[in-house]
Amino acid sequence: LMGQMMTTPLMIGSVLRHAARHAGEVEVVSKRVEGDVHRTNWAGIELRARKLAQAFARLGCEPGDRVGTLAWNGYRHLEIYYGSSGSQLVCHTINPRLFPEQIAWIANDAADRVLCFDLNFLPLVEKLAPEMKSVQHFVLMTDRVHMPAASSIAGLLCYEEIVDAEDGAYSWPDFDENTASSICYTSGTTGHPKGAVYSHRSTLLHAYAAAMPDAMNCSTRDVILPVVPMFHVNAWGIPYTAAMVGAKLVMPGPHLDGKSLYELFENEKVTFSAGVPTVWLGLLTYMKANRLKFSSFKRTVIGGSACPPAMMKTLQEDFHVEVIHAWGMTEMSPLGTLSKLMSKHDDLPAEAKQKLLETQGRVIYGVDMAIIDDDGRSLPWDGVAAGNLVVRGNWVIASYFGQKDAPSPLVSVDGEPGWFPTGDVAAIHPDGYMQITDRSKDVIKSGGEWISSIELENIAMAHPAVHEAAVIACKHPKWDERPLLVVVPKPGMSPTREDLLGFFEGRIAKWQIPDDVAIVAELPHTATGKLQKLKLREQFKQHRLP
Ligand code: ADP
Repeated sequence: LMGQMMTTPLMIGSVLRHAARHAGEVEVVSKRVEGDVHRTNWAGIELRARKLAQAFARLGCEPGDRVGTLAWNGYRHLEIYYGSSGSQLVCHTINPRLFPEQIAWIANDAADRVLCFDLNFLPLVEKLAPEMKSVQHFVLMTDRVHMPAASSIAGLLCYEEIVDAEDGAYSWPDFDENTASSICYTSGTTGHPKGAVYSHRSTLLHAYAAAMPDAMNCSTRDVILPVVPMFHVNAWGIPYTAAMVGAKLVMPGPHLDGKSLYELFENEKVTFSAGVPTVWLGLLTYMKANRLKFSSFKRTVIGGSACPPAMMKTLQEDFHVEVIHAWGMTEMSPLGTLSKLMSKHDDLPAEAKQKLLETQGRVIYGVDMAIIDDDGRSLPWDGVAAGNLVVRGNWVIASYFGQKDAPSPLVSVDGEPGWFPTGDVAAIHPDGYMQITDRSKDVIKSGGEWISSIELENIAMAHPAVHEAAVIACKHPKWDERPLLVVVPKPGMSPTREDLLGFFEGRIAKWQIPDDVAIVAELPHTATGKLQKLKLREQFKQHRLP
């Protein structure tokens, strides 16, 4: 017997139509590249997204064509998300912080037909345009007043003009929910970046799951400010989840310094946010220096790299913000696990609760995980055994863009095929709390034993004089590798080597304490704000351990 229910496909266009019909007056506020604050609402976004869909068709775009973006978080970028995917085009966000050659490479690999970009990226795009062979239309995301008098890009289009030229008499079409909706490229820390191609179905299931109470817990009562950029795995799905639940959305544009963020949080009464650990450093430093408090901000998701427990504590205890530590990756749309307590943990001592919250958390329905040894045998969930973390589920990739016929990246677990190897090394606690100990390529191998660089970094970050810390492997004649601690001190502080290494005593096994310390003014970060260990290892290649 088959079910006898409607088979309404899961369409991205339907999410925006829902937001416009049922939360039409709920605001979307953006701090623009131009510097001012722009206000619209979901009904306004939907109307303009429909006009944009018409404009893309007028430019000759056909189903499956890619629309590239180089843009900050803002209402126009949101309109492009929906106007492209909703009309069967594929939204391809490109990280503008990548090296210019990499940006051109990615646009060519995805064969973008249109490229939409913010005003401040005009010089960059003018330089790259000749390299971007597939792009037929360059659209500057601004109004006529801000258009340049002249540009080396022939036929440069003005976003507001192409939108205004349409009447909006367009309705979001239904088509196969497995159609591609967007592409995101991995940061390419190993070789060329690779594209993950999401579908309407995977995106919507991910958006539903993200809203659940044990995930981001989003509702129409929320005011959401994604600090995570829309070019970093679709701002972790927030543009879809916010529309789905009808939440107010606040977009910071390129203004991510502590002062700008704080003002936006307060002026717009933000309740929920999400971002990588590094973005909170600036905000918290600014707030501490000016003795400021939040009046509405209640909870935040922190992920993308390990959230240092010290940062978690500061947010919780000094600023009364709940921190939900999350783990995921581009290949997973990105959400995999989030740290929330179960009711059985209610009576645990505070410290034991905190330990669970500091892990990367439990999976949400829609993804499953396992840890395996190098022979593909699953390891026990005892919180001790660490192995290669593998995942599968509705929003996990099966193959990379353009590599459908290449050997599958998937592996088997206990002989059962179809698991995606994450490249992360993790242990899983009996209650399903997953704890990343390293990326497989960052782990430190000392005398055959593994030392977790993340664990050492977390300890260093708790030192009162440390602003940021990284631990990398250094070659050692006897032990093969030993940990080196690299530290950026807090402004005006100068911690000594002895002081820093002494801090590890009693906090970790003696043999795991770093052998040496290097003090630097700055650490290298990737285009998504993560520590760039590869670069750091190169920088300290000649370093001699004592
Ligand atoms: P890339 O893999 O290209 O650097 P992603 O944004 O997809 O870009 O990064 C995914 C990786 O980031 C994960 O595989 C993991 O190594 C790391 N990561 C993400 N969240 C966390 C977290 N909460 N703790 C530790 N590592 C994390």
